Amino acid sequence: MSKNLLVLALGIFFCLQTHAARTVSKRLHPDHAKVDIDMEGFTTAEENTIERALDFLSYRLSDIRRENLRSTSKYELCVAKYSTKDWREWDAKLTDSQNKGNNAYWTYNDVRLALLDHALTGLEIKIKAIYEENKVWGRAFVGNYPKASMVPDLVIKLNRYNLAKNLKREDAWGGTIFHEFLHRVGYSHPTGYPGSLIKEAGLCVTRKFAMKPVKKSTMGIRRPAILDDPMYEIED
Ligand SMILES: [Zn+2]
Repeated sequence: MSKNLLVLALGIFFCLQTHAARTVSKRLHPDHAKVDIDMEGFTTAEENTIERALDFLSYRLSDIRRENLRSTSKYELCVAKYSTKDWREWDAKLTDSQNKGNNAYWTYNDVRLALLDHALTGLEIKIKAIYEENKVWGRAFVGNYPKASMVPDLVIKLNRYNLAKNLKREDAWGGTIFHEFLHRVGYSHPTGYPGSLIKEAGLCVTRKFAMKPVKKSTMGIRRPAILDDPMYEIED
């Protein structure tokens, strides 16, 4: 084998090797210190996609934070337009769209508080690899935040099977990560139906709050970003 071929072969070998763990630091909370994110079991290419997805999510969270003083941010309007179920609260004195906007705000704020906890305590966010040949992009156990006694550990799983096929979709992975975080802070959608609050929340992050549905052609399958398994959505 020539030297060049050997270098190429070694390069491919190391590129496809999954890493035990790699920690990156990101400013995920819009106005606070960086948090450490531990990635476990991914290849270098997959880790790079996750890093870009975290950056993408970070920008979107900052966008929402910037618009926070407005009564209806683009994020809230986007989520309110598409979500039809799974309310955290519903005030009969408000209009439907006001209620949906409020519920959308809760999703942002609950994740923001969890990120703040991680920033302040130094607790690592963990993103672990799973490999399943199906349409599942991520998994997370449903947590029970907010509870004064605990920091909701943001431990989620991403499916390498779909990650490898969508290495350039940091937008969709950013939305997926946000969606999985929402499970960790207590949200669920037992059947994964369209219109659930946190499904739309994730998709609104993915498409930068645009007030239009996900395009078929760009997403491959119809609503792929936020498919996860109800088996993992155990209320505890
Ligand atoms: Zn889910």
